[in-house]
Amino acid sequence: MDNNCLFCKIIKGEIPATKMYEDDDMIIIKDIEPKAKNHFLCIPKSHFKLLVEMDEKQAEMVKKCLKKIPTLEKELGLENGYRLVINQGDDAGQTVFHLHIHILSGQKMGWQPA
Ligand code: 5GP
Ligand code: ZN
Repeated sequence: MDNNCLFCKIIKGEIPATKMYEDDDMIIIKDIEPKAKNHFLCIPKSHFKLLVEMDEKQAEMVKKCLKKIPTLEKELGLENGYRLVINQGDDAGQTVFHLHIHILSGQKMGWQPA
């Protein structure tokens, strides 16, 4: 946990969020500024910024996230397909430095970097 991290604060319940799912390893919330019809964030409960910093325990958590997401098909509106995004660093526009997986669904999506 990092006391200055927005997502750690959400995990601790210090900042409110709309929770779609939670267990010991992750929390899935609605993104406050949706970039698609459905936009959720799957946040592993261990604080780390980048995949390059990820240790084995954290990798296990990310694996659990990736396995859990498709099981929440109805809750997350994944029936017609979905997109997962992990922004890493400046060029990707990462703004919250606690690794998280964006889940985008509910509409057709194009393919462009910006
Ligand atoms: P990044 O740009 O780091 O990949 O993604 C950060 C995401 O967090 C953005 O999509 C942004 O809209 C979302 N976000 C920022 N602040 C909050 C907040 O207070 N609550 C929620 N639910 N999402 C947030
Ligand atoms: Zn954090």
